Amino acid sequence: MLYPLRSLFLDMDSFFASVEQHLQPHLRGRPVGIAPMLAEGTCCIAASYEAKAFGVKTGTRVSDARQMCPGIEIVEARPPLYVEVHHEIVKIVESCIHVDHVLSIDEMVCWLPLNWRTEDKITEIAQAIKRKLRESFSESVRCSIGVAPNGWLAKTASKMRKPDGFFMIRSEELPQVLYELKLADLHGIGSNMELRLHAGGIHTVEQLCAASMPVLSGIWGGVEGKRLWHKLRGEIVDDYDADPKKRSMSHGHVLAPEMRHPSVAISVVHRLTQKAALRARSHGLRAGALALELRFTNRIKWNQSMTFSETSDALFLTKIVKALWQERQPRNVPIQKANVILQSLVTEREFTPSLFEQGCANNDAINAAMDQVTNRFGKQALYLGGAHGAMETAQPKIAFTHIPNVKLEE
Ligand SMILES: [Mg+2]
Repeated sequence: MLYPLRSLFLDMDSFFASVEQHLQPHLRGRPVGIAPMLAEGTCCIAASYEAKAFGVKTGTRVSDARQMCPGIEIVEARPPLYVEVHHEIVKIVESCIHVDHVLSIDEMVCWLPLNWRTEDKITEIAQAIKRKLRESFSESVRCSIGVAPNGWLAKTASKMRKPDGFFMIRSEELPQVLYELKLADLHGIGSNMELRLHAGGIHTVEQLCAASMPVLSGIWGGVEGKRLWHKLRGEIVDDYDADPKKRSMSHGHVLAPEMRHPSVAISVVHRLTQKAALRARSHGLRAGALALELRFTNRIKWNQSMTFSETSDALFLTKIVKALWQERQPRNVPIQKANVILQSLVTEREFTPSLFEQGCANNDAINAAMDQVTNRFGKQALYLGGAHGAMETAQPKIAFTHIPNVKLEE
């Protein structure tokens, strides 16, 4: 089976060390080790590429690092600063492509929308990310980007051409493209698992790729081996490739004073809904729930949501948002801020059409036509009537929600 390039994985190169090199220019181009405290007995939690050239790596004792790499600068870690830079980096990447999941302080994964899966487009995104990082920080803050049919392979790809790498693993190159790796290079194969693989007669990635699913299940003793078998083939297995519960897209807008009266504000809500639907469709996603959040000028907040069978149909979502709008309390207070959130997002692939609900299939053609017109002539060219009046004033900021789960660098 061949799969398209669907996942883009970004991994910062020697993150902590490069942040220090950025903040302290005299460290640039020099071997740097980051230690949790300035004591010879502690271990480096990160090393710059200049130090890595001498064999210093995460886990090397500071005293050993000094022996291996005379002249190495040992710098005490400043985690709050790294977290701050991390958030800036997420924002920069988000300005190029939606960040689906932040996996650690220096890793994030992005799902490639259906219309962004050509190698030209992907290269353009990767270059834009790298350029913006350079512009916002300095040459010392670099990332490696991997692209592949699933997140696990994209992560693998991101490690294959470090530093400042950009590497694509294409479905048709599998599995040979992986043969340059060692077993331990693969995420999920720790030293224990490596020993078990050896015991099972698997010593190389080539042998791993050739192993049957029952053999891998046997070695792992369960579902993990099976999952790896699928991941090696480009199939989607990982949570962060498709975790509908965690996925939501939020489109919010602070209303200008002249838009706040409910009779006018409804057009902004419709506009946000249409933008959200358009955005979901461009990502190849369907929503299973919609929430409307309002903040009134008297500071009262109100929200209400509704679930339905997954759709990205603007007409359907418009009806939902209208029904929610009717429920709002208080009724006659001007609205200061509106938020439309698409929740329980699923990919087209995961979508199972409901047998019992009246589907929106008929509207797919209308939505596709609207998307084409919008793409060619701009967002003001064609929209559903409810949004009229909000088209000039609403410049909705697209904000995506995600759960930053910041762990320290491995
Ligand atoms: Mg890294």
